[in-house]
Amino acid sequence: MHSRGLDAEYSKYGHRRGWSFVMAKRDYYDVLGISRDADAELIKKTYRKLARELHPDVNKAPDAEARFKEVKEAYDVLSNAEKRTQYDQFGHTDTDYGDFDGGSVNDLFDMFFNGRKRNNPRGAQQGENIEQRVVIDFKEAYTGTQRDVEVTRDVPCDTCAGTGAKPGTKPEKCSSCHGTGQTENVQSTPFGRVAMRMKCMQCNGAGTIIKQRCNVCWGKGTTEKKSTVRVQIPAGIASDMMLRVAGEGMHGVRGGPPGDLLVAVHITPHEFFEREDHHIHCKVPLTFSQAALGDEIEVPTLEGRVALTIPPGTQTDAVFRLKGKGFPQLYRNGRVGARGDLHVKVFVVTPTKLTQKQKESMRVFAGEPPSEPTRFFERMKRAFMGDG
Ligand SMILES: [Zn+2]
Ligand SMILES: [Zn+2]
Repeated sequence: MHSRGLDAEYSKYGHRRGWSFVMAKRDYYDVLGISRDADAELIKKTYRKLARELHPDVNKAPDAEARFKEVKEAYDVLSNAEKRTQYDQFGHTDTDYGDFDGGSVNDLFDMFFNGRKRNNPRGAQQGENIEQRVVIDFKEAYTGTQRDVEVTRDVPCDTCAGTGAKPGTKPEKCSSCHGTGQTENVQSTPFGRVAMRMKCMQCNGAGTIIKQRCNVCWGKGTTEKKSTVRVQIPAGIASDMMLRVAGEGMHGVRGGPPGDLLVAVHITPHEFFEREDHHIHCKVPLTFSQAALGDEIEVPTLEGRVALTIPPGTQTDAVFRLKGKGFPQLYRNGRVGARGDLHVKVFVVTPTKLTQKQKESMRVFAGEPPSEPTRFFERMKRAFMGDG
């Protein structure tokens, strides 16, 4: 089960699906009128000079405001070392274009309001994440465990060395798009020059055409390979936690880092124990005489039985806390805190099969001076029927 979504679709083979919508932009160095090796000092000086000239308060030319914005944007990128390096390497990114692949209204919304960031389609890309699910039992969640998780990754096809072309042949440059994978159509609109970039229909955006396809991968260039990743599941894991195994996802594209393996852990319920955060609850029966006279009983924990003293006169629903017999508290950052407690709730079982001798003892017990419940019933009788 691979993660789905636009980004995943994009990164898989590194080229665009559908069409994209691009505002044609000038090169930032051209905007400032400087060479590509200009130093930070020159960039700053040039920007100040242009900003003074083009400031809408000073310059009343109709395009002054637009040019002022253009200069500011160029300066914002080129004056930031990290952004400049990225720009030098990849040019205008999809984020400043506002790029989308003919998707839904939500995609449009994200693009305009959240400034979607996406890997440059021609640069290095991180591999997509792989999602897997494992099922462990209650006790394994308590002690921690491990599972071997099977993952299926796309790897370059051995037969064609990843080209997708039949051995002895190779992919040819697409003559329609000259290898770019896109066709462009620039139009003038009230918002400025708008370039409609379409995916090349001839090569489906790949930039190359395979005349004779590899008969192992059928031109895809990749085949699926199964492998196993041993995943350590920490004690205290909860059912809603997702384990991230860094670097065990799909391989990166063009030198990009691999994705991650995301493991959703499902914990099966226990017959006797119930979990509440890092605490555990269980119910234990007491006989009538154990509850009345007190006793030392054995109660189950996830580490075997332990002794518990029941004091005389214990009522149904009394709770006894065994400190530190719960789950270790596992924080999302992987830190482990103190263990929770085991809460033992008792209930008194009314005897149903009494021997003759037991019945006689009970009658003797019932005939003894009024106990608490008897006095309670006497009071209730008076309340409803008067003193008579
Ligand atoms: Zn083409
Ligand atoms: Zn192949």
